[in-house]
Amino acid sequence: MNKFIIAGNWKMNMNANAGEALAESINSKLNEKKFIITENIKENIRIIVCPPFVTIPTVANKLNSLNNTIYLGAQNCYYEPKGAFTGEVSIEMLKSAGCEYTIIGHSERRSIFGENDELINKKLLALLANNMLPILCIGELLEERQSGYTFNVLERQLDNCLKGVNKEQIVDIVIAYEPVWAIGTGISATANEIVEAHDWLRNYFIKHYGAQGENVFLLYGGSLNDANASEIFAIENVNGGLIGGASLDADKFTSIVISASQLL
Ligand code: PEP
Repeated sequence: MNKFIIAGNWKMNMNANAGEALAESINSKLNEKKFIITENIKENIRIIVCPPFVTIPTVANKLNSLNNTIYLGAQNCYYEPKGAFTGEVSIEMLKSAGCEYTIIGHSERRSIFGENDELINKKLLALLANNMLPILCIGELLEERQSGYTFNVLERQLDNCLKGVNKEQIVDIVIAYEPVWAIGTGISATANEIVEAHDWLRNYFIKHYGAQGENVFLLYGGSLNDANASEIFAIENVNGGLIGGASLDADKFTSIVISASQLL
């Protein structure tokens, strides 16, 4: 599969003005590189930015006013459609604000906010039911890797988070493999570690979902940046990246997108 998804997770950074400026800058840098006007690239690389909830409408308005091919995603959602859930945001609200993707299961939500696989599964099923594309994050802690449990952890997370998902739906889910020890540390997994994990993931999806498993997008995340993107994207079962820190810098994020375009 020679297609890529490049998603920027802005986390709790950028107020509305800063987010608007960042989106505009990414867009104009991509235009400068003639990125957007090349049909082949437009069709084969999906660029997504995921701003904080309250800034999504501002970023959406800015993107809509430009000639752009950047999609919007949210960083979280709640699975109930409405009601007494103080502080939560529904999928319908995100859709009406312009989001087509939602990140769920990010390690920061798991570790800081206590989210577990059962809750993530409810969110995932609700996203699918509402025609919103989930970006499901999975990944092992350092201790788990060091004890040789990486694949047990990935299997448990996938089995639990994907409960109730059928063969037709599986291709609507984007998987982001993010070893927790590589997130925000500046220490990416090595190419060998990524090859091993992504081959394992591809086999998992083929084993459980047959031929459709070949078409599931498998992103890598964890200190992916403009310096290592080319090497990581060249790995066979890597179909793009989920990028935190480097997605806040228009030059770096654009350069990551260009790295993918050179592999088409
Ligand atoms: C992330 O938060 O999903 C992430 C991969 O962050 P970073 O790129 O900063 O490691």
